Amino acid sequence: NQAPVIAIDGPSGAGKGTVSQLVAEKLGWHLLDSGALYRLLALAVSHHGMSVDEVDTLKVLAEHLDIQFQQGNDEGKVEIVLEGEVVTQAIRTEEVGHNASKLAAIPEVREGLLLRQRAFAQAPGLVADGRDMGTVVFPNAPIKIFLTASAEERAHRRLQQLQQKGETVNLSELVQSIKERDERDANRAIAPLVPAAGALVIDSTELTIEQVVEMVFAELVKAG
Ligand code: C5P
Repeated sequence: NQAPVIAIDGPSGAGKGTVSQLVAEKLGWHLLDSGALYRLLALAVSHHGMSVDEVDTLKVLAEHLDIQFQQGNDEGKVEIVLEGEVVTQAIRTEEVGHNASKLAAIPEVREGLLLRQRAFAQAPGLVADGRDMGTVVFPNAPIKIFLTASAEERAHRRLQQLQQKGETVNLSELVQSIKERDERDANRAIAPLVPAAGALVIDSTELTIEQVVEMVFAELVKAG
């Protein structure tokens, strides 16, 4: 596949989602929110009351899960549809994120999602956001970014997001849950969260979204 890919990896709450969306919009490129795929799978597993021990069934589900990213009425707003049901908001809860990270540690699940993710690399280009975009899914991506921020800053950002949605959460519980998820994502045997070789590491703790977006564009210019 020849379409260029900008791989943006990093822990949850580092700003990958917003940055990826802005970069994709400005370039008119496709966007892959790979975390959404793991979240969708987690939601489907709980809807179907499936056991996470049946790894072969999980793989088949990952390969064939009925997922659609639909352009909504609002410019730029994408609705996520799982088996005919709009789940754009439902997949964003802490619980689904937690279950997604458990599923993401299962090799068969990652294998099941691999080709689906690669299929997003279409002309004119793709901005891919996740944990292993630069290391596993798109190892030949010409541009690799590893976006991080302190756990406390990420918890603060997450708290604001959740509060805007009317969810009540406790900051120290959030810090705890972010650290747990980081730990699981970084220490799993398969596709652990690590910067890809040659990735530009950006610590966004003290940066605005706009500053990060500019740094990504500077990389794009450098890569020609
Ligand atoms: O990015 P997001 O928080 O939506 O991802 C949910 C979970 O999915 C992460 O905690 C991680 O365990 C998993 N994930 C992954 N590989 C990706 C994207 C997400 O393992 N490329």
